[in-house]
Amino acid sequence: MSDLVLVLNSGSSSIKYQLLHSDSAEVLASGLVERIGEDSGRIVHEAGPAKLVYDGKIPDHKAGLARAFEMFRETGLDLKTLGIGAVGHRVVHGGEVFWKPTLITDEVLHAIEKLSVLAPLHNPANVVGIESTRELLPDLPQVAVFDTAFFHTMPDAARTYAIDAKIAAAQDIRKYGFHGTSHQYVSEKAAEFLGKPAEDLNQIVFHLGNGASASSIQGGVAIDTTMGMTPLEGLVMGTRPGDLDPGITPYLMRAADLDVSGVEQLLNRNSGLKGLSGVNDFRELQKLIDTGDADAKLAYDVYVHRLRRYLGAYLVQLGTVDAIVFTAGVGENSPAVRADALAGLQNLGIEIDPERNETRTPGIRRISPDFAPVDVLVVPTNEELAIARAAHKLVSA
Ligand code: ADP
Repeated sequence: MSDLVLVLNSGSSSIKYQLLHSDSAEVLASGLVERIGEDSGRIVHEAGPAKLVYDGKIPDHKAGLARAFEMFRETGLDLKTLGIGAVGHRVVHGGEVFWKPTLITDEVLHAIEKLSVLAPLHNPANVVGIESTRELLPDLPQVAVFDTAFFHTMPDAARTYAIDAKIAAAQDIRKYGFHGTSHQYVSEKAAEFLGKPAEDLNQIVFHLGNGASASSIQGGVAIDTTMGMTPLEGLVMGTRPGDLDPGITPYLMRAADLDVSGVEQLLNRNSGLKGLSGVNDFRELQKLIDTGDADAKLAYDVYVHRLRRYLGAYLVQLGTVDAIVFTAGVGENSPAVRADALAGLQNLGIEIDPERNETRTPGIRRISPDFAPVDVLVVPTNEELAIARAAHKLVSA
């Protein structure tokens, strides 16, 4: 089976895509369809040196994909005749049903749709993306790769919320965790870099992008993660608060007269760094801090405080830690966050070499001194490649 895979990540108003060889990781083309359903949409498509931009109304996902597939043709890549082996879809919530890459059939698609109750902001968009691709490329096998899958191994003590057990069971309320594809990918890459099997290593992974999560990985198996039943729990994120006293929600509904969608809007779009400082982008936050902005500084301090709280929790859970891994936009690019997250922990064997931390090189790098007992690594994530490999493996089996 050809190792060429088209990977799609469909959001509510956007679709990210990449066409790549899953063996060599060579990317033939990639692009982003944005502002679907709005007055004016945009597609940016890149294939080698060619960059095509489309500006115009994109009424729905299928229209956006159809236009993007034309742009593939315009750059000499006809998706129907290229010999693509599979289409891999990122699907956010697999619930208790899916914890392995899964070939998409009508039944599977229906089950993913049913899981929309657990992820109303994500799964419906994933379903629309899958339906559109199936219509446009009906002859290709389509594979769903779930963001929750890697955390399926969490023990009951980590995944159970202490609420009425009958209600929790009836409503499927438990910790599922997200960003699993990235946590798994970077922890495997870290093991490769350290020249040891993942089974022999305990790792703490910080995936710090717009969304952010940490995980505690014992011998290659995830035993805890910060995100919960939804991607709202845990670390402070660009626009989400992470951990919050659950009493705040009913309080706000009463005191500030917010309804369900008002609360959802507040917690998903207007909290986190944005809620505290007005900006959700970390680079902008850093610029504000440099101008002496007190709100931005507090946002940064809250962000780092939360990272350290989970670092402490996971150090205790694991007992011994071999590697601490930073990944995603902030994790890969902010030396300040890495240094502040791990400051003052020399007695625990955790140390950062300031020069290594500041030196930017592509690929995986160690930022701890050679003598430090705990390896601190920066590992670029590549969720598209991980999805492509999972999809190729499934259809080749
Ligand atoms: P996502 O995939 O969740 O949308 P990313 O992993 O691309 O997010 O991370 C986006 C975040 O990374 C943004 O907050 C952005 O400001 C931050 N980021 C990117 N580059 C840098 C940098 N050089 N320094 C600090 N933060 C950065």
